[in-house]
Amino acid sequence: MKSAAVVNYAPERGSVEIREIEKPIIGEEDVLLEVANVGVCGSDLHQWTSDHSWPVNYPVVLGHEFGGHIAETGSRVKGWKEGDRVVSETAAVIDPSNPMSRQGLYNLDPTRKGFGYGVNGAMTRFVKVPARCLHKVPDVVPFEEACLTEPCSVAYNAVVMNSRLKPGDRVIVLGPGTIGILCAAMARLCGAQVAIVGLEADRHRLEIARQYGCEPIIGDATAWARQADGLGADCIIDAAGASITLKIAMDLVRPNGQITKVGWGPQPLGFSLDPLVQKNVTLQGSFSHNWPIWEKVIGLMGSGQLDVKPIIGGVWSVLDWHEAFEKMHSGEVVKSVLKPV
Ligand SMILES: [Zn+2]
Repeated sequence: MKSAAVVNYAPERGSVEIREIEKPIIGEEDVLLEVANVGVCGSDLHQWTSDHSWPVNYPVVLGHEFGGHIAETGSRVKGWKEGDRVVSETAAVIDPSNPMSRQGLYNLDPTRKGFGYGVNGAMTRFVKVPARCLHKVPDVVPFEEACLTEPCSVAYNAVVMNSRLKPGDRVIVLGPGTIGILCAAMARLCGAQVAIVGLEADRHRLEIARQYGCEPIIGDATAWARQADGLGADCIIDAAGASITLKIAMDLVRPNGQITKVGWGPQPLGFSLDPLVQKNVTLQGSFSHNWPIWEKVIGLMGSGQLDVKPIIGGVWSVLDWHEAFEKMHSGEVVKSVLKPV
């Protein structure tokens, strides 16, 4: 049986098309997941427009933000059965004996391969998933929302695990994409006062961020950063996809503050990092997520503390992937969600 899949087939810009692919054959520790919904990620767009900075195993089915029902289980899979409602983590291939994996930080195993670039992803009807990647989804969370567990986990790792936030801290998030808005929402859950910064073209996305109790700012955030005592914000979360924003972050952060960088920007810097030294600032990277983070995020979604509905701009058939990608690429919607056929 063949199903339509959104395939990224070559490194050249625009090399994405619908192809009919065979149902995957699963191994004994895998499940076959029937995809209900799959979110479009900024990284899917980067592979489509060919401005990504990670190796891609062409041709590959895109999509790593997904959930659905278990359709088959491998012979050695325990604790899961056909029909279970699940979401899947993204680290499809890891080396369990890597020292990072052995600490539970398999997201930082350098040999890790993820869905949608290293192995076939979920923008199709069936995807092969190792059982260790699965998490149960409560019935109260529909799959259109559950498929966003992944970007929420990126935000949780950046804000809760990798940033030192205290209630009352003033936090500035740079970039109102999905990750930026979710980082802002997480910082609010941590009890921070939060501003989110974008450009004039981001007005619509900034208004969505306002629904999470953040102050939207177009352009210069200096006044907000200095409002409390004139020294700057406690923490800057850089969720923009351009290197230059690090310069803005260094300007806005207070002495002894922190900058957490979660947005990728392949461009070389072209400016001095001396303000980091002079201000005694911590510059922290944040990448991906692991099992305990997913459990916390699913808890937040199930309890209603984290509502992702405001960021979902629409649900499209995988056959209409191009429209869904375009709308997100242009910033018309924050997050596009696909449904397999
Ligand atoms: Zn993603």
